[in-house]
Amino acid sequence: MKTVRFSDLNLDKNVLKAIDDMGFEEPSKIQAEVIPVLLEGYDAIGQAQTGTGKTLAFGAPILNKMEKTGNINSLILTPTRELAVQVNDELVRIAKYTSAKLLPVYGGQPIERQIRAIRRGVDIIVGTPGRVLDLIKRKVINLKHIKFLILDEGDQMLDMGFIGDIEAIIKASNNNRQTMLFSATMPNAIKKLAKRYMKPDAKHISVVRNVMTVSTVEQYYYEIKHRDRFESLCRILDVEEPLSSIIFCKTKRGVDELAQALQARGYNAEGMHGDMNQNQRLQTLNRFKEGSIELLVATDVAARGIDIEDVSHVINYDLPQDTESYVHRIGRTGRAKKEGVAYSLVTSKEYPMLKLIQRTTKSKIKRKEIPTIDDIFHSKYRSIVNRAKEALEKDDYKKFVPLVSKLDEDYSLVDISAALMNLLYHKEISFDYSKNDIGSFSNDYTRLFISVGQMDRLKPKVLVRFLCSNAQISSKSIGDIDIMKKFSFVNVNKDVVRPILQHCSGKILSGRRATIQISKPKHSRI
Ligand code: ADP
Repeated sequence: MKTVRFSDLNLDKNVLKAIDDMGFEEPSKIQAEVIPVLLEGYDAIGQAQTGTGKTLAFGAPILNKMEKTGNINSLILTPTRELAVQVNDELVRIAKYTSAKLLPVYGGQPIERQIRAIRRGVDIIVGTPGRVLDLIKRKVINLKHIKFLILDEGDQMLDMGFIGDIEAIIKASNNNRQTMLFSATMPNAIKKLAKRYMKPDAKHISVVRNVMTVSTVEQYYYEIKHRDRFESLCRILDVEEPLSSIIFCKTKRGVDELAQALQARGYNAEGMHGDMNQNQRLQTLNRFKEGSIELLVATDVAARGIDIEDVSHVINYDLPQDTESYVHRIGRTGRAKKEGVAYSLVTSKEYPMLKLIQRTTKSKIKRKEIPTIDDIFHSKYRSIVNRAKEALEKDDYKKFVPLVSKLDEDYSLVDISAALMNLLYHKEISFDYSKNDIGSFSNDYTRLFISVGQMDRLKPKVLVRFLCSNAQISSKSIGDIDIMKKFSFVNVNKDVVRPILQHCSGKILSGRRATIQISKPKHSRI
């Protein structure tokens, strides 16, 4: 496993301090590789998926000892407005202790406001190609003095037809800049772009791994919405009642927040991360091993190298940064021939990372529905009945028999049992679940029917390209694809249904004219 620390990377203390505030314990793989290369002045081509920590990989070198010259220092191009905002937000956090001024620019927002902001002086611009080019043409953005040009999610930008804009932007910039191109895949068009506009000694960095084997742990994922992450976890815990479970978070702060939130709801949880000293960690670990802590909330770093024989559940509250960490995490369960399960909570943004994990580990991660309130109710009922049966086999309860016999005169014993069960039930559920419909992101998805299928030799990749290029949408808006014999289904984000119906239906796909219609959702909840 990686052993590089942020402090090994020659970063300025202002940047290191911000990283520490963000709660990151150690660089992700792409960060450990890209940061030194950019600091040494090379161009770089990085093959990495979403969610691997690319923003900090280029953000730290950009912000490291950045000099304010009154000119734009760096430009970051992203395929969508959503990504521009996300990348900008992450950069703002990294820039916390610097005086750098950042601005996201994208279409759909009044250009005048962006023009005014740029005229007041910005150091770093994060934008979509169309809007950035527009601002260059209006002579608001001048790229003649930039130090860094970053192309994020290159393959997506090309998929969306931005190649012309990107080339025009590159041509408008100075030659002695450093260029960094990130892309999840490396199609020829990307290679050509790199060859044409990057220095010949550009470094190639890839964090894509091929095959890795995972133990026979049963693996599941839950599709969740970001805001429902905590409630989803509570529902899973309430239904599964794990005896010993490690819950993984990405950051130290995440661990602290989650452990506290769980404790506040009455769960037997404790946090563990790299800021705790060795002694504290050992104590926590021992209590977990003895069973006096049921839920251990930990970062990857804290859980690494510790000897925990076996846990019943591994829960990825956040997905890890890379596939190895995933394998390492889930290796904590299912040991010694015991059954183990691993659950991952996955938002639509994290979905590509889940796919990558699935592909590289060649394992089947099955989808599970978030437990409904009914599921929780029935599962608690079964658990209480089982415990009651166990108690009936012992004699402990007998001291209550004479007292309860008296109750028998005024109430029905069935009612009394039900009332006691109700008391226990409310004591045991830890969350005030108010409604059943917390969201799997399939709620945001619309299922489309497409009249082309296996018989037409349709492949998922071809379908994605067909939808993206005709409707000018990002492949991120596309979810599960099921290709059947004569037709196919695809889940797409609600926002892109109209462009798809308008621009794809009736076009030729795999040699056949495609009819596209809205279908019923695959997993309708309640
Ligand atoms: P990408 O640009 O590759 O999609 P991001 O840079 O947005 O990925 O990072 C994905 C998530 O991981 C963000 O929430 C970010 O805060 C977090 N993250 C990035 N680097 C680290 C790290 N070294 N340790 C923990 N979390 C990290």
